[in-house]
Amino acid sequence: MLITGASRGIGAATARCFAARGWALQLLARDGSALAAMAGDLRSQGAVVHWAAVDLSEAAGVSAGVETLLAAGGPPGVLINNAGAGYTSPLAAMSLQDWQWLVQLNVTSVLQVTRTVLPGMRRAGGGLVINISSHAAHQAFPEWGGYGMTKAALAAFSRSLALEEASQDIRVTTVTLGAVNTPLWDTPTVHADLDRRAMLDPADVAHALLQLAEQPLRQRIENLTLLPAAGAL
Ligand code: NAP
Repeated sequence: MLITGASRGIGAATARCFAARGWALQLLARDGSALAAMAGDLRSQGAVVHWAAVDLSEAAGVSAGVETLLAAGGPPGVLINNAGAGYTSPLAAMSLQDWQWLVQLNVTSVLQVTRTVLPGMRRAGGGLVINISSHAAHQAFPEWGGYGMTKAALAAFSRSLALEEASQDIRVTTVTLGAVNTPLWDTPTVHADLDRRAMLDPADVAHALLQLAEQPLRQRIENLTLLPAAGAL
């Protein structure tokens, strides 16, 4: 399986969860030292791990970065497009530069990663693409408009991709998440004061993703929504 944004948060929890089930891993994020440390740890437990440090906000390097992972590990059976940034700002105050950065990272890089992976997945006879969206795609929250726009775009992207790739036995699932207690809430582009204890745990999301990956080939789940028991925070 290939997962983006594997250096921390949901991606790191998911990588560990899949490794424990014996999946070979292809990990991507910017922070090479975090990926190297995780790879070392998981290899010592018997896992097969390849990793690549790639900045998905720089369009020019995305495809080549993914190609290095494919060259090392072959085509993945499961691709999880998880990397992304949170971002809060009133729309009227959001700079064009920030808008373009967020669209590149949260949407355009998903197109780039996916279409670099698809040819090998098709040759291998099929696979599963999971795109990580957010409850903010459907419900408006003040200052989350730019972020919600990127996650709504991702859901629309998934729906079309599912139809286009169905004949290749490639299934596409959108996972819509409510708040998850990850370092996203401490990043400089997010200003929010929510109850971290009421949020989902990254391990909850990891287990749901593993279930999706191990579902029978005869079924497809188009959307999975996972919210904290308390609902939208
Ligand atoms: P996180 O803890 O901030 O982790 C984000 C991951 O994405 C990190 O591994 C980070 O690695 C990677 N990333 C960020 N910028 C990148 C870049 N320019 N190039 C490559 N990788 C980059 O966030 P998270 O909560 O785990 O979020 C994972 C996904 O879930 C995101 O798509 C997010 O929108 C979505 N989501 C999260 C929540 C939530 O409440 N946490 C709710 C709904 C949806 P590096 O910094 O090493 O690059």
